[in-house]
Amino acid sequence: GVRDGLGAYIAKPETYAPDVVVYHNDDFVAIHDMFPKSSLHLLLLPRDQTKTRMHPFDAFEDAAFLAKVKAETQTLRKLAAGELRRKYGKDSAQEQARQAALGADPPPDKLPQGRDWEQEIVVGVHAVPSMNHLHVHVLSVDRYSGRLKHRKHYNSFSTPFFVPIEDFPLAEDDVRRNPTKEGYLKRDFTCWRCGRGFGDRFAELKQHLEQEFKEWKKL
Ligand code: 5GP
Ligand code: ZN
Repeated sequence: GVRDGLGAYIAKPETYAPDVVVYHNDDFVAIHDMFPKSSLHLLLLPRDQTKTRMHPFDAFEDAAFLAKVKAETQTLRKLAAGELRRKYGKDSAQEQARQAALGADPPPDKLPQGRDWEQEIVVGVHAVPSMNHLHVHVLSVDRYSGRLKHRKHYNSFSTPFFVPIEDFPLAEDDVRRNPTKEGYLKRDFTCWRCGRGFGDRFAELKQHLEQEFKEWKKL
């Protein structure tokens, strides 16, 4: 069924184009999410056959496995940060061309460090995944995408329904183990950036997310 759609990537990663499969090795496949909920949205798929059908909360009880996944998400976070720098960074080719057109001095040979784009990436899993194969989301914080069409899309990445990889292993009494009881997906909307509340007004939230996206990427 459709819930098994991620299985093909771990079975035959070499059959996909680079705009679908970002990279693969013996233990992991990194892909672009087909319905991205941010301007950059990747998925890390562990290939371990003993883990791929497990709920992330259970799979990550294995400390050695968790350590391996955490290490790989660090690699993917760096890669994603590099992508954001290319897309939005002040030292991007686009920005340099813009500056040149304005008659600005060419950039010095040694560019300053610039913005830490790794901070603009979030990494984690959904408390209730919809897809069967174990996957970790690696996405930019913006939540700006035409594919973000439903209230649950926003809240699944903007409430404790999204569990950061750093929070594992989870305590036994962690409330996020009861996501439905907590009602995360039905909560009122809160802007990820400024904290403003939007009640249940999704259209208004979407407009606001576009404004925030424009400011965030220029910052
Ligand atoms: P979940 O809600 O299970 O944590 O997230 C599953 C993710 O997989 C969603 O973000 C969804 O957009 C993505 N997705 C669903 N089907 C496919 C597919 O066939 N290919 C890719 N690349 N992503 C998919
Ligand atoms: Zn805001």
